[in-house]
Amino acid sequence: MERRPNIVLINCDDLGYGDLGCYGSELNATPALDRLAAQGARLTDFMMASPVCSPSRGALLTGCYPPRIGFGSFDGLPVLFPGQAVGLDPGEVSIGRLLSDAGYATLMVGKWHCGDQSEFLPTNHGFDRYFGLPYSNDMGRQSGTPTTDTGEQRGYPPLPLLDDDEVIEQQPDQTSLTGRYVTEVLRFVREHRDRPFFVYLAHLYVHLPIYVQERFARQARNGRYGAAVESIDWAAEVIFAELERLGLADDTLVVFTSDNGALDRADGGSNRPLRGSKGSTWEGGMRVPCIARWPGRIEAGRVVDELATSMDLFATFAALAGAEVPPDREIDGRDLSAMLLDDGASPHESFAYWWMDDLCAVRSGRWKLHLARHGEQHEELYDLVDDLGESHDVAAAHPEVVQRLRDVAEGWRRRLGDARLGVEGAEVRRLGRVAEPRTLTTYDPDHPYYAAEYDLPDRG
Ligand code: MG
Repeated sequence: MERRPNIVLINCDDLGYGDLGCYGSELNATPALDRLAAQGARLTDFMMASPVCSPSRGALLTGCYPPRIGFGSFDGLPVLFPGQAVGLDPGEVSIGRLLSDAGYATLMVGKWHCGDQSEFLPTNHGFDRYFGLPYSNDMGRQSGTPTTDTGEQRGYPPLPLLDDDEVIEQQPDQTSLTGRYVTEVLRFVREHRDRPFFVYLAHLYVHLPIYVQERFARQARNGRYGAAVESIDWAAEVIFAELERLGLADDTLVVFTSDNGALDRADGGSNRPLRGSKGSTWEGGMRVPCIARWPGRIEAGRVVDELATSMDLFATFAALAGAEVPPDREIDGRDLSAMLLDDGASPHESFAYWWMDDLCAVRSGRWKLHLARHGEQHEELYDLVDDLGESHDVAAAHPEVVQRLRDVAEGWRRRLGDARLGVEGAEVRRLGRVAEPRTLTTYDPDHPYYAAEYDLPDRG
């Protein structure tokens, strides 16, 4: 049997559509990622299933729209916070579980954000090994935390750094984390060079607050934001060089992407030429960079402008690894291998945009119909081919397209729900829940933290 490919999936945090050189950035130097795109395929219509972290990551990992796995909202909140009782149900099959069951060695490094109770952690979702932050890097003790009327801090417990499911540090030096993440990846790749492996590296960059190493701060022309982007590029270069050195580059599919668009108030982030930002169902919130390289299998230098989604990685990796997609449940993602390896068309008739549990827009082909924003109805039609920036509502000129997309929306609504209209989805599975949740850390004034309180007040 032909050797199955190793898979390295790199996911960034809040990196915008226009933040890489190969996607048009003139501010950030990203030579390693530009080369990756030149050696593989650059996707222009790649969608995350949510404009914020937890639902985006849950969808990517399970191949399912967030509402299908109960990830539309988390006891009323848009993402998971430290010590919540809910997370990715242990009965869900993540890419880690899928590939582990298929005989892959599996590593996750970096931001998980699918639940911090032990039942929900990566090591209970098919990853042999985990090293990283279980949630966002602004969910630790940080200056500028609002206090209550009685002067009590309303902040989070110390930021935990996990090794498997053990807290090995609290309030770690964020400046050093990317280097430590890379070290973990290199170690794992060397150890498992003789069998198929799956590495999921989820950077803490470019989520706020941004702590960067001196070298990147000095060389970047786009402030701390640019330095973080260039750190991501450096990390990619180191990992690619090691794959090359070990003779594994041709046997490894590398996919690079981001969990949602750049924040509108982040200094230096760009979703150009898209409208909107993190947290919105305009394209800028959910359309992200995606580069896929597999030398000899994916034609070098391709630009793929077919609709594809993060949920498709599940089915695609399954196909390439010879793993069976779980037959006992509905999966929204589709196998992209024909599209990536053979110039095939998009496997999707339509794509749905949810904010929390509200169905906010649907896309089919070139057309996107907005239905609602911030809980209010807004019916607008945009032509994403002629008007990628969603600036000219053409609903009045195309009533038949509007009607067709209303029908598409109704189908999604029936299946996965629409909280704004009080519709419960018929196919929604349950969110994982534990009876007695605990935070991973508690503040101790006598503990020798690297920083008892991070000094940058930025949150995102
Ligand atoms: Mg994010």
